[in-house]
Order: sequence, then structure tokens, then C-alpha cells
Amino acid sequence: MNTRVRLSLRTKITLALLVTGLVSAVLVGVIARLTFLQQFNRAIFEESFLAFSGDVTAYVEAYGSLEAALQAEPFPQFVLRRRESISAPARTVGADAGRIGGPGFIPPFFFIALDLQGRPVIGGPRPEGRPDVTPELRARARSIVVAGDTVAYAVPIEQPNFNAVDQTYLDAMQHAMGYGIAGATLIALALGFFFSHRLSANLRALARAIQAMRSGELRQHVHVRARDEVGVLGDAFNRLSEELAHSHDTIQQQAEQLRELSIRDETTLLHNRRYFNEQATIAYWQAQRYGRPFSLCVADIDHFKQINDRFSHATGDAVLRQIGRILAASMRESDIVARYGGEEFVMAFPETPLAEAFATCERIRRAIEEHPWHEVHPELSVTMTVGIDSDVSRVQLEQMIVAADERLYEGKRCGRNRVVCGTEERTTW
Ligand code: GH3
Ligand code: MG
Ligand code: MG
Repeated sequence: MNTRVRLSLRTKITLALLVTGLVSAVLVGVIARLTFLQQFNRAIFEESFLAFSGDVTAYVEAYGSLEAALQAEPFPQFVLRRRESISAPARTVGADAGRIGGPGFIPPFFFIALDLQGRPVIGGPRPEGRPDVTPELRARARSIVVAGDTVAYAVPIEQPNFNAVDQTYLDAMQHAMGYGIAGATLIALALGFFFSHRLSANLRALARAIQAMRSGELRQHVHVRARDEVGVLGDAFNRLSEELAHSHDTIQQQAEQLRELSIRDETTLLHNRRYFNEQATIAYWQAQRYGRPFSLCVADIDHFKQINDRFSHATGDAVLRQIGRILAASMRESDIVARYGGEEFVMAFPETPLAEAFATCERIRRAIEEHPWHEVHPELSVTMTVGIDSDVSRVQLEQMIVAADERLYEGKRCGRNRVVCGTEERTTW
């Protein structure tokens, strides 16, 4: 499985969240700024219109009519006087801003007043004079009403100028937006790192578990700390792993049972001929290669046919089982014993020279002869004849078996119930 990744999931999620966070923050910032500016402009516009229409109203009221007022006193002078008398603050720009009409004075909005015929009669206090009143400007005119009658129209002719306080508000808002964007970026980074770390940690744990399964460790359990789809995936994986491991165990057990069945003899519970040939061949080749002692014995129950005929086949089987037990009890772990067929048994003794094998076989022979067979049947007695070969220089294991078998039959001919090892015609050591 290729576990190398070009761009990790963690990086991707972090980047995605970062981009999303940044775009949202910038979008929100731009929209907020535009909305704020619009509202701010409108508020200033309203404030300025109120101030201007208040001044015009007072101007008209002071002199009875607009025409009389215009004749009597210039509008800026009237406004200056009026402001001083009511001590209303003028909107000014900059620290050294002058007063209304003064050299530093810049009104927040520039209005002109049109008389009822639509002629500009009061201009914003601009030194360059009154602008042309275009139809667009005229459409934005608002009535200035005195005692229920419209006396003039106020028309805005410029965008607002921000004074120091306004500018401070705007700067503060811009800073706030900057901090907001920086904060959103940090939060996006932190969230991206946190979520992607958890997600990628879970996925990496799953990938490791799958690797482990591939290398044979089927029983895996992944701790997925999530209740989302990854959590579901983790649970499903754990269940699958458990089921696979369970099936594998069952198959292994069945295979083991099958193997056991295929190498065991049911009656005696000793190994069978097939197993013996496998294992004894290995032991034989090792002995031959390393020049180690190795003995091979073939044993046959004497007059077994008579036992069957005289006592019953079941008694014959009981004898076979008991002999199987005696043989198994007489063997070392490293020895190999098997029922070779019928009432014949074979034994292989690795690391065992002829004299030692002879002694073991003698012990077995005596154990069989001395077993209380009368417990099976009062008249039953059982003996066994054994032939041994320890010549590992023979080309094959099969030849050792043939040699041992020849000695077995020699023992049968000589009267049975004996161990024949072939050297000097000796039947005892
Ligand atoms: P010998 O002393 O020369 O070996 O004579 P024997 O009677 O033991 O030899 P023989 O080959 O004439 O007879 C072997 C008998 O073993 C024949 C067969 O019916 C019996 N036999 C083979 N397998 C079984 C078995 O699984 N159970 C029983 N009860 N008898 C078996
Ligand atoms: Mg036989
Ligand atoms: Mg026999």
C-alpha cells in the first residue's frame, strides 16, 4: 500500500479553512465598511440638512421673507451671528478649522438654497461661487418650510467632508476590521489544525491497522475518537477485523484438526505411516549429514491373528490401543512412533545409537509382555517382536526400514517375543 501522500489531509483542511476564513472576513469587512460609510454619510447628510434648513428658516423668520433677508444681510454673516448667539458648534475639519465663513471653515455638506422659482439664492460658502444647478441636483432638492409655507429648496451639491471626529470613527472602524480579519485568520488556522489533526490522526491509525492486517495481524482495534463518518468507518473496520480474525482462527483450528486427522491413527491415537515417513526422513537426513547416531525399529505383535480369532476383533483392538499407550509412554519427545499398518509399529530414535535403541526396545518388549492382559481377558497374553537397524550409511530411510523388517522376521523365525538388532545374531545385549 502506498502511504506516501503529496499534500497531507491536514494541510488541505487547514488551507481550505484558512482561505474560507480569510475570504469571509474580507467579504464581511468590505460589506461592513460600505454599509457603515453609507449610514455614516446619511447621518451626516441629515444632520447637515437640519443645520442648513434651520439656518435658512431662522434667516427667513428674522427678516419676514427670503427676499427681505437676502437684501438685509448676507446669509453666512447671519449664520455666524446666529451660531454665536445659540453657541451651537460648527462642524469643522482639522485642528485649526475656522468658524463658519472663516478661512478654515469647510462645511460637512455643501447645500445651496433655491428660491421658489428655482434660482440659486444662497450658495454654500464656497469662495468660487455657486455651481450650476443641473436637473439631477434639482431632483434631490428638499423643501425648507417656514410657518407651513415652503420658502426655499435645499440642494446638496457635494459629498460629505469628514471632520476629525468622523475620521477617527472611520479609522477606528478600519482598525477593528483589520483586527477582525487577523483574528478570523488565526481562528481558521487553529480550527484547521485542530480538526485536521484529529481527522488525519484517526485516518493514519486506520491505515496503520490495515498495514498490520496485511502483514498477518488480523485482529486490530483502532481507537477512533469521532462520532462522525470517520467514527463509523473505525467501528466498521474494528468489527471487520474482529470477524476476519475470528474466521481466520476458526479456519486455522479446522486446518489443524484436519492436519491432525490426516496424521493420526484413530485406534491407537499414535501417528500414522504418512507422518512417520515425513518426520523420520527429516531425522534420517540430519543424522546422515551431520554423522549423528540414528536408530530405526519395526515392531509386530506376535500371533495377533490368533488373538483376533480366539478372543474377538474388539479384544484385538483393545490390545492395539494398549500397545499404543505403552509405546507412547516409552518414547522421548524427540522420538517418533507410529502405527505402520495392521499390528505393525515403527519407531525412529534420533541421536540414539544401536545399544541405546536396543535397550529401549527391550524395555518396551518387557512392558508388553508383563502388562496385566488378563484384565482384558483371563487367558490373554501378548508379546511383540522388534527388529532394529542403526546403519545411517544406507542410501535411504526406506532401506533402513527394510533392514529392520528383515530382523523382525528373523526374530519371528527364532521364536518371537524378542528384539533383533542384527549384529552377531544377538537377541540380547
Ligand atoms: P505373526 O506373529 O507372524 O506376526 O502372526 P500374526 O498373526 O500377528 O500375523 P498376520 O499377518 O498373520 O495377522 C495379522 C492380523 O492382524 C490379521 C488382521 O486381521 C489383524 N489386524 C490388522 N489390523 C487390525 C485391526 O485394526 N484390528 C484388529 N483387531 N485386527 C487387525
Ligand atoms: Mg504383521
Ligand atoms: Mg503379527
